[in-house]
Amino acid sequence: MPYVCMHCGKKVKAMDGGFVRCPACGYRALKKARPNLAREVSTD
Ligand SMILES: [Zn+2]
Repeated sequence: MPYVCMHCGKKVKAMDGGFVRCPACGYRALKKARPNLAREVSTD
């Protein structure tokens, strides 16, 4: 799953081990990128 650096906004590929760091700025706070924010909404 892709991640986005919370510091510079660069997209970062997730690496094995579950720990990722931004290769551009070295920031270690990343958030999961969600390309689609589709919501499941009940229409009942
Ligand atoms: Zn960064």
